[in-house]
Amino acid sequence: MAVIAIIGGGASGFLAAITAKEASPDSRVLIFEKTTKLLSKVRISGGGRCNVTHACFDPRQLTSFYPRGGRELLSPFTRFQPKDTIEWFSRFGVKLVAEPDGRMFPSGNTSSEIVNCFMENAQKLSVEILTSHELIELTSLDSGKSGWQLRFSSGESLAADKVIMSGGSSSGLLHILSGLGYSIVPPVPSLFTFNIRDSFLEGLQGISVPDAVVSVERTKLKQTGPTLITHWGLSGPAILTLSAWGARILHDMNYHFTLTVNWTGGKNQEEVYSKLSYLKNEQPLLKPASKAQFGLALKFWKRFLERSEIEESLPLKDISLKKLRALAELLSNQKFTADGKSTFKEEFVTCGGVSLNQINFSTMESRLHRNIYFTGELLDIDAVTGGFNFQSCWTTGWIAGNAAAKTNTV
Ligand SMILES: Cc1cc2nc3c(=O)[nH]c(=O)nc-3n(C[C@H](O)[C@H](O)[C@H](O)COP(=O)(O)OP(=O)(O)OC[C@H]3O[C@@H](n4cnc5c(N)ncnc54)[C@H](O)[C@@H]3O)c2cc1C
Repeated sequence: MAVIAIIGGGASGFLAAITAKEASPDSRVLIFEKTTKLLSKVRISGGGRCNVTHACFDPRQLTSFYPRGGRELLSPFTRFQPKDTIEWFSRFGVKLVAEPDGRMFPSGNTSSEIVNCFMENAQKLSVEILTSHELIELTSLDSGKSGWQLRFSSGESLAADKVIMSGGSSSGLLHILSGLGYSIVPPVPSLFTFNIRDSFLEGLQGISVPDAVVSVERTKLKQTGPTLITHWGLSGPAILTLSAWGARILHDMNYHFTLTVNWTGGKNQEEVYSKLSYLKNEQPLLKPASKAQFGLALKFWKRFLERSEIEESLPLKDISLKKLRALAELLSNQKFTADGKSTFKEEFVTCGGVSLNQINFSTMESRLHRNIYFTGELLDIDAVTGGFNFQSCWTTGWIAGNAAAKTNTV
């Protein structure tokens, strides 16, 4: 009986375990989890709703959501993509439903559906689950050709034919792997919000601008999309996506940088000025504070007027072109100093991990040793928010589970 050991009782580990056991029912499949809790990230994911995947069914388009790993995931996504995720869960009675923005959640809107699905099916298939078992030593037998020797914090040891490494962003595992010769891309956080202390934003918490353009000075980092003012600074999809693409650059800047924001949906300063002066000509009696422009909330718009020293009570005809120019500049090219980051509560991931050039993506097996496979966040793969991070866990877990089950003789 072949022994397949899975290190990590998280998203990708469970999917890999169930896949391996289904593909090779005679194998002994074991999950080793270092903590006392299984699937803990799945449980808290998506604010407790679990954003399982994204309704994006074109593999190439799907890869565009991965700042790291997109190129490598193209071929795996032709084999297991969101459509397959939907089918996989549906086979076990969990229906996934898409929201208008493409994010997909279990129909009951709770992550416990996913947790229960994994737990019940692992049990049904007799996958052995051992908690409080931290892998502390991993030894290859003849470069893995004769399997692996595993040692756990509990003092127990196990000889396994195959090992699937599904330990997430664990520094302990990365250390073990580095000792085995794997090159590790240093882990840094991704998907965070920007801390900005600026009196301009004070009292405006909760206001969202649907189409702001945010960019980081002295870099090529730029994103367009909804931007939200928070108690601490700026958040929202545009900021989170910018943080994902810029995870390493912003880390290297120690999260201290100048952020430029165009609040007008990308109109340049001249276009904004033209629109304001046109308004002045067309509606000379209009009081500027009576109606917000550029789709901004009235309270926010009034803050721009105040900062441009435009009196609310004056009609447009009495406002100088110089002031309108200052307003145009502020709207289209406002600078903020970001100093630090905050955790986004819905989802955060680690950029970095096992270097991808050491992995054969048709099996998820190592190129350095035989019979060792890698899945999920342990790899240098991460995505923007929206269900894409789990999708790479399902895809790599499914490929590794099938490949590990295939040849049971070592
Ligand atoms: C708050 C939050 C919300 C999120 N929401 C979403 C979402 O809605 N949608 C989405 O796509 N992504 C979401 N993510 C990201 C997603 O949770 C991760 O990408 C995913 O859980 C990674 O799965 P994994 O199996 O690679 O690792 P993990 O889920 O981290 O599992 C790894 C497991 O391995 C164990 N382990 C580590 N070292 C050892 C060892 N030496 N021995 C034994 N066991 C070990 C760990 O304890 C852990 O249980 C969210 C993340 C967070 C933090």
